[in-house]
Amino acid sequence: MDDRQLLRYSRHLLLDEIGVDAQQRLLESTALVVGAGGLGCPAALYLASAGMGRIVLADADTVDLTNLQRQILHRESSVGWPKVESARRSLAEINSTIEIVALAQRLAGDALEDAVARSTVVLDCCDNFETRHAVNRACVKARVPLVSGAAIRFDGQLAAFDARQASSPCYHCLFPEGQETEEVRCATMGVFAPLTGIVGTMQAAEALKIAGGFAAPMIGRLLLIDSRTMELQSIRLARDPHCAVCGAPGAA
Ligand SMILES: [Zn+2]
Repeated sequence: MDDRQLLRYSRHLLLDEIGVDAQQRLLESTALVVGAGGLGCPAALYLASAGMGRIVLADADTVDLTNLQRQILHRESSVGWPKVESARRSLAEINSTIEIVALAQRLAGDALEDAVARSTVVLDCCDNFETRHAVNRACVKARVPLVSGAAIRFDGQLAAFDARQASSPCYHCLFPEGQETEEVRCATMGVFAPLTGIVGTMQAAEALKIAGGFAAPMIGRLLLIDSRTMELQSIRLARDPHCAVCGAPGAA
């Protein structure tokens, strides 16, 4: 780190848990953020300000007026832009010293596997089960940690998985594919604006802890957030030995 970086990140360097070594690890890390919407915006904001060295944003959508209620990287002036371009512009204004890669596509197949395999940590900030399961499969296959978030109405969820740990469940252990109740999306159900900020910033916190190698990431736990009452519930998750994704070698 040069003098400006030492100054920029000085409030991290003052923390015993972080210090120069962990900050340096963050600067050398890559975070893949799948989705540049309600969760991806606040998550990417803190990853950028905190010095994640490389942030890859993937989203195929463009900004529309209904996004501005919660997707805080986007501006009135960026309505109609690809979300990843709008997000990149905002993030670059906050931290011009990191690398921000904008992928204006819905990552799938080989492109998804490739992006995951090149990442230190993945943040699932998307809004549909198909992508969530595809991201999870790619993370299990490449043994890359995954921080998963969800927010709908007033209810939030946060969970972290690490396929490098034998005891860690995966997203599929928790939500087996095909057993989802109908897809609920903000577009039809509504969502409380700051809840997306709460969950997204928690995702950033977990991703920074994982990439920096400090504190205790919440691997194998599910946090349920009721933003009506601000009651939090933490549930310990067990790995499903019969999970089709992580349960048997080669099953992924
Ligand atoms: Zn599993």
